[in-house]
Amino acid sequence: MKKVDEMKIIRDEVIALGGELADYRRAEGMHAVLGEGSHDSACMFIGEAPGRNEAKYGRPFCGAAGKILDELLASIAIERSDVYITNIVKDRPPNNRDPLPSEIDLYAPFLDRQIHTIQPKVIATLGRFSMQYIMKEFGLSFEIEPISIAHGKIYDAKADYGDIQIVPLYHPAAAIYNQSLKDTLREDFHSLKGLC
Ligand code: URA
Repeated sequence: MKKVDEMKIIRDEVIALGGELADYRRAEGMHAVLGEGSHDSACMFIGEAPGRNEAKYGRPFCGAAGKILDELLASIAIERSDVYITNIVKDRPPNNRDPLPSEIDLYAPFLDRQIHTIQPKVIATLGRFSMQYIMKEFGLSFEIEPISIAHGKIYDAKADYGDIQIVPLYHPAAAIYNQSLKDTLREDFHSLKGLC
């Protein structure tokens, strides 16, 4: 099956999902946010969950955090459309609260299928939720450290389709009012430059 068809099936299943976040999406007339970018990208960015703007427009990272992500990608001359950007949780949690473990369990299988379809060589995680999920998923549970230590490191791992590298990064939202964290993110993006 073509990648685009696999991604459409995943999208349709998420749209039809039950549960508190999907019910909230329907009640508020919001959108599920599946992801966007190139299905052939070597590089996948994985955030946490959509915020208000993302759920309004159905696009990942299109609000304030997205503006920072765009700046960071531009700083290493990567076009946003050349990478794939998504989240673990595909529906917006009310009041932008942290996703619950049960919500991560519900939505993560869709992320796993997206990864399997795109087969990225590099996964950059944005924030601690996606770092923890992806490192566990790729057999790196014993290497999980606080994001303040793990950020910018490159972890080698194996996917069922080949070798991959995982690069934990701070969440861009954390840099909105924190210039030193933004500088750290810029430096960490430089580690990605040669990989993507
Ligand atoms: N924060 C995220 O983790 N994902 C988005 O898409 C937007 C903000």
